[in-house]
Amino acid sequence: MNEDLSILISELREQVLYLQELGVTSLNADLPEIKVQSPKSKIQNPKSEFVVPDIPIIQKTEPQKVENPQSSIRNSNSPLLSRLPKLSEVSAQKDFPTPIQPRVEVMPKKPVEISPTETLFGDISQTLPESNETLADIKAEIGPDCTRCTLCEKRTQVVNSVGKPTAKLMFIGEAPGADEDAKGEPFVGRAGQLLNKIIEAIGMKREDVFIGNVNRCRPPQNRQPLPDEVVHCKPFLLREIAIVRPKVIVVLGNTACQNLLDTKVGITKLRGNFQDYFGVKVMPTFHPAYLLRDPSKKRETWEDMKNVRDYLNSLE
Ligand code: SF4
Repeated sequence: MNEDLSILISELREQVLYLQELGVTSLNADLPEIKVQSPKSKIQNPKSEFVVPDIPIIQKTEPQKVENPQSSIRNSNSPLLSRLPKLSEVSAQKDFPTPIQPRVEVMPKKPVEISPTETLFGDISQTLPESNETLADIKAEIGPDCTRCTLCEKRTQVVNSVGKPTAKLMFIGEAPGADEDAKGEPFVGRAGQLLNKIIEAIGMKREDVFIGNVNRCRPPQNRQPLPDEVVHCKPFLLREIAIVRPKVIVVLGNTACQNLLDTKVGITKLRGNFQDYFGVKVMPTFHPAYLLRDPSKKRETWEDMKNVRDYLNSLE
């Protein structure tokens, strides 16, 4: 019997330790009384029928991780343990406050909005360089017999930019076509006539705007200008932009868009959204020649041009 009592005391101590780990400070389990009868033992306190020897004070230490507390303790076949409330019952009783779980605050990830031109040294946004030359100066420098790139071999004539020197709106295309090569003026063929309608649709006239191309000589079979051809001719256009200083540049078609903005992103992705070129708003949209081949794209071009019109109107 003494051996059984020793086992019970050991199991009870283990259970008390376990309950302390759970944060239990009081126990209100309605346990049946267990009478220990031993003719040899003298019960000092008659009211105490179940004498529990002193349990050493437990110093607060790091709780040991119990992988499965129920399995480590309750697998015992002890009749005492079987009478103790189950762990789920302990948690459900109000007298046994559930240990407070530490709250883990997760900081919301707020994107930091910063201007792409904002730096420790302030705003370093690029603007158009000042220019002290004229459009005539550039035209004279190019000359009528420019041979800076291979496009000179098949062209009829150099097709220079035209338009108002102080235009708020500039159109930039890729290169002259057959009609332009013959007449010496950009956008005068069927695509040019459609461009005139686009300009008029936003309440302006061709004379109000400035029109040019990245390359001034017609490529054979209207092929795209090669990078080596672009690099020789584009600087003249950029110098013209610095002179005219438009408020908006509409780039017509993929080639003009990628060459001006120096990007590989296609016109389909860029169109409809203002881009930036040295502080000048750039609206990529479809080339009028493309609209002639696919009139269904006119609606998107019209949307782009309405944005251009609204922006220009907002400046007045
Ligand atoms: S495309 Fe431009 S750089 Fe090339 S030959 Fe013509 S004007 Fe000169």
